[in-house]
Amino acid sequence: MTARQRRIGGWGYEGETMEPSLAQMVWLETRLGPPGTPLRGDNIAAPRVPARRLGDLPAPVSLDARDRLAHARGQGLADMIVLRGGLTGALPDAVCRPTTPDEVQGVLRACASVGAHVIPWGGGTSVTGGVNVLRGDAPTVTLDLENLSGLSAFDELSGLATFGAGTRGPDVESALGARGLTLGHFPQSWELSTLGGWVATRSAGQQSLGYGGIEAMTAGVELVAPAGRLDLRAWPASAAGPDLRQLVLGSEGRLGVITRVTVRARPRPEAHLVEGALVPSFDVGAHLLRTLVRQGVPLDMLRLSDAAETQASLAADATPTILRHLLKRYLGLRGIGDEGCFLLFGASGSRRAARAAIWQTRRMAWREGGALLGAGPGRHWLRDRYRRPYLREALLDRGYATDTLETALPWSALAAARERVGSAIAGALADTGERVVVLCHVSHVYLDGASLYFTFFFRSAAAQETLRRWATIKRTANASLVSAGATLSHHHGVGQWHAPAYEAEVGLQGRALMAAMARHLDPQAVLNPHVLLDARDHMEE
Ligand SMILES: Cc1cc2nc3c(=O)[nH]c(=O)nc-3n(C[C@H](O)[C@H](O)[C@H](O)COP(=O)(O)OP(=O)(O)OC[C@H]3O[C@@H](n4cnc5c(N)ncnc54)[C@H](O)[C@@H]3O)c2cc1C
Repeated sequence: MTARQRRIGGWGYEGETMEPSLAQMVWLETRLGPPGTPLRGDNIAAPRVPARRLGDLPAPVSLDARDRLAHARGQGLADMIVLRGGLTGALPDAVCRPTTPDEVQGVLRACASVGAHVIPWGGGTSVTGGVNVLRGDAPTVTLDLENLSGLSAFDELSGLATFGAGTRGPDVESALGARGLTLGHFPQSWELSTLGGWVATRSAGQQSLGYGGIEAMTAGVELVAPAGRLDLRAWPASAAGPDLRQLVLGSEGRLGVITRVTVRARPRPEAHLVEGALVPSFDVGAHLLRTLVRQGVPLDMLRLSDAAETQASLAADATPTILRHLLKRYLGLRGIGDEGCFLLFGASGSRRAARAAIWQTRRMAWREGGALLGAGPGRHWLRDRYRRPYLREALLDRGYATDTLETALPWSALAAARERVGSAIAGALADTGERVVVLCHVSHVYLDGASLYFTFFFRSAAAQETLRRWATIKRTANASLVSAGATLSHHHGVGQWHAPAYEAEVGLQGRALMAAMARHLDPQAVLNPHVLLDARDHMEE
């Protein structure tokens, strides 16, 4: 069997795609106008950027041009535009793959001594510019952690499993699965992202309602910094001062390199059931989500699309006409019209417990005027959940660009923020006469609030102009998140692209504290210096 080859300038692996349907293309054309300039991803060549000399690094090093190109950017839309449009002006000077924490420490010290920067790299799936190399910057080493991977210790009685930080999602699950366990962390990027990356970005998986975000799963962690090592052991709880693991969670490679993570694993559930429903409106749906969570119905996933996203999914749906007709009649009988919103709900555990939670949710959705759609939508979602990212590149090939952003708010502010942020994004290109289509869903819910996940579409043009359009939308969105009192990110992190607004989120003292910690652990600012604390705008670089 040949190893699957990671694609450059696109999501995932070579040879794998998800093509838009004709109905989806018509839907886009109706709302945005005819396709713009396609930005194709074939034949992306490495630019001729000579590698600057860094002296001897005490770990395996690659200077191969294609390897450097593969580590130049993450997986944000801007990264795809830059790579596909030939705008890549910067590559890491070396890709280094340490095999031990000592080698990591050695590389950090060697880089500090020559004034080079080091960017920790897990799966490179950042969508916030978190792993991007900047033009005109100091010599840069990308530290790929793939050799620090695999299960290294397992405490069966406690369900504590220690992995190298570079372990990818499927490898975490297969090691735990062999022991009858699961981590329960399934971000959409699961196939390529790593445990260290999840911790570094405070990642949230699709079943966070049941399993919590990565912060709930992280019991212990080792961080290697130029100043030394921070070894935070796994205790179930501790009152010995502030929880320093919380400093590592979300540190985005700015404070140190996470080399090892001990996670809390759980018994693998017997069943995972997912069903769908339509509710009469977004407000009714949000009320239902809030009630379900506050009543403690043991679900592990709740997703609520707004009406626009629901209509877009229905338009793209390949259900035969007769069934569509029946669905329309059923919705009519339930009084659900164009404002109807799609709800997906899931539960895991023993078959009996999962069924009971699904049954209770069905009953509550019905009482709110919902129409139950059964297990079909759940099967669809489970089948495509890791394939959807391929659609973004297929659209870019055809002249449409799409990206996402996410935030979180208390329940009391959710509806207003959805309107405000959504309208800001939709109008972001109005000056240029270009339209932006915005869809939104709630993807993570809590006792006190929920996340909002926006997807937007616009027409692509020549690469530089597409990048400018994207940056205009992002700047507008960041400003509207701040003014709506919403967090800059629910689970994608700050990276380079949200960093200019980081102070607005944490305040002057918050930022100063973060900077002081970075100075202590990394006095020469070797580690990923343009994330979190660099307030300059790098979006168009
Ligand atoms: C299609 C798609 C879907 C996504 N879906 C989700 C989702 O459902 N949920 C979610 O949370 N996120 C999602 N993301 C975002 C991304 O996958 C997460 O941020 C993920 O946690 C990054 O992991 P990674 O291993 O790829 O890290 P990278 O992208 O390699 O790095 C991200 C940041 O963490 C730092 N870093 C990485 N590893 C280490 C380490 N060992 N030590 C110190 N710093 C480190 C990097 O320097 C960088 O700042 C998605 C991204 C894409 C492209």
